[in-house]
Amino acid sequence: MAQPHVLILGAPGAGKGTQSAKISEEFDVEHVTTGDALRANKEMDISDMDTEYDTPGEYMDQGELVPDEVVNAIVDEALSQADGYVLDGYPRNLEQAEELEGMTDLDVVLYLDVSEEELVDRLTGRRVCSECGANYHVEYDQPEEEGVCDECGGELIQRDDDTEETVKERLRVYRENTEPVVDHYEDQGVLERIDGEQAPDEVWEDVKHTIETVA
Ligand code: AMP
Repeated sequence: MAQPHVLILGAPGAGKGTQSAKISEEFDVEHVTTGDALRANKEMDISDMDTEYDTPGEYMDQGELVPDEVVNAIVDEALSQADGYVLDGYPRNLEQAEELEGMTDLDVVLYLDVSEEELVDRLTGRRVCSECGANYHVEYDQPEEEGVCDECGGELIQRDDDTEETVKERLRVYRENTEPVVDHYEDQGVLERIDGEQAPDEVWEDVKHTIETVA
């Protein structure tokens, strides 16, 4: 198989980041994630784009989508440099999905299916390593030493947008903007639905098998 072009869809907290890291390693493809790219550029000056706020961070901290113009440019640049990739966090609305169709061909579209109740629980309890980005959970996936990353010893923090209020807004934005993207790929008959409520290893078995079968 040539290096696959994988799109991974799912609500915030569905496990896209965790599964994408595994896909990237197993299939030797680039992990292209708009969330991480934007977090690294939260203070970027976008005031010349005639947008409501002057930086991506102002949208992110409120759980709103960063303007398409900013995000499309990030993805276009990243995909043009990758042979194979797993794309995570994009497209988040139908306009972005249309834009993506002009940039690349997809081999497989995965959808991690997780109920809303479970998502709220996962997101508000999530802690991430400030150094390497590894994910933990205050109840279900604790590090050996509280507040310290098992992988690299970095400090574990709560993302600014993982507070209960912002999580609710992110899920509302997801339902309104991104669920139509899921329906769009389903209508095209290319959506591979995966039960995202299984244990991470079981989800991974399904993800790996699906890519090997479909891509
Ligand atoms: P994530 O890490 O994927 O949950 O993304 C965190 C935040 O980054 C989102 O709540 C949005 O504010 C912003 N973001 C990430 N990807 C996109 C996208 N494709 N379009 C617009 N905003 C995005």
